[in-house]
Amino acid sequence: MALQIDIPAIVANWKALAQQAPGARAAAVVKADAYGLGAARVVPALYQAGARDFFVALAAEGRAIRPLLPDDARINVLSGHMEGEDLAGLVPVLNSAEQFFRDRTMRPGQPFAIQLDSGMNRLGMEAAEWAGLRDEALAAGPDFIMSHLACADEPDHPANAAQLAAFRAMTEGCEVPLSLAATGGILLGPDYHFDLVRPGVGLYGGLPFADARQVVRLSLPVIQLRVVQAGEFVGYGATWTAEAPRRIATVAAGYADGILRALSSSGASLYAGGVACPIVGRVSMDLITADVTALETVPAMLELICPEQPIDAVADFAGTIGYEVLTSLGGRYKRTYL
Ligand SMILES: *Cc1c(COP(=O)(O)O)cnc(C)c1O
Repeated sequence: MALQIDIPAIVANWKALAQQAPGARAAAVVKADAYGLGAARVVPALYQAGARDFFVALAAEGRAIRPLLPDDARINVLSGHMEGEDLAGLVPVLNSAEQFFRDRTMRPGQPFAIQLDSGMNRLGMEAAEWAGLRDEALAAGPDFIMSHLACADEPDHPANAAQLAAFRAMTEGCEVPLSLAATGGILLGPDYHFDLVRPGVGLYGGLPFADARQVVRLSLPVIQLRVVQAGEFVGYGATWTAEAPRRIATVAAGYADGILRALSSSGASLYAGGVACPIVGRVSMDLITADVTALETVPAMLELICPEQPIDAVADFAGTIGYEVLTSLGGRYKRTYL
């Protein structure tokens, strides 16, 4: 099993997204181990390319990358200041009055940021809560104030303009850097850029950044080949039956490796030199079966994620999104980095 990760492509995607928001500083979102690709390799490369602002979901993720970064890099923790958390060297994004007072009591003088809820109703202070806290919070000097868009991957969705208006209203007169856009928000245009943009999935080759360079290539070893005759089935539940003699390859990876079980007989294929070999039967924990009848010779490895079938194509077949395909990629793969 080989998961190949193209670090120069991640850097190129970061630069391309930064260029789309020339008036803003471009951060890099590296939560969930850089969307499953390996923060230990991704983070130093992005720092070297010029990124100084990083976002993680959890303080533990921040502590893991802090030693990889010089002091001038800021690591922002989106879950904020949770009780008992060690935030040394990190910047919590405070999401509620409760987090604000906890943080200012425990870490007076230390850097922090604020998240406002502009309509997504997931994280951040609501307008009334913020109105009560605003003067005190601004006096304490937040690094930035941010919010997050719920529908930025749908440019025509009315929630985008509504959230933009709500964010503007809540931050009017604040002399503090502002941040609203993730990958999708960058693509919505300059109204959404403010001072700091926070691309994540686009760095790793995922939609909605359609112009992204692909980053991931996933090759899986063939363990066994057999011919099945018309009427024979393949795999658990006998869900696929050959209508004519077919050559079947059994490949060493399965849903334990993040190859979603929903890919079973979904139309997804494994690829060999550009030739599609449909996945047939159920994806099992450690194994997949594919119909390789179309191949003259079966190579040692077949590809699941490749230029012919990028992460969002795999996601479509599984009924999910590229984010889930990436973050599901398991720990059994040998990750190699270009
Ligand atoms: C995950 C996340 C991002 C990055 O989003 P992408 O859609 O992956 O670019 C930015 N901001 C917040 C608050 C997030 O949770």
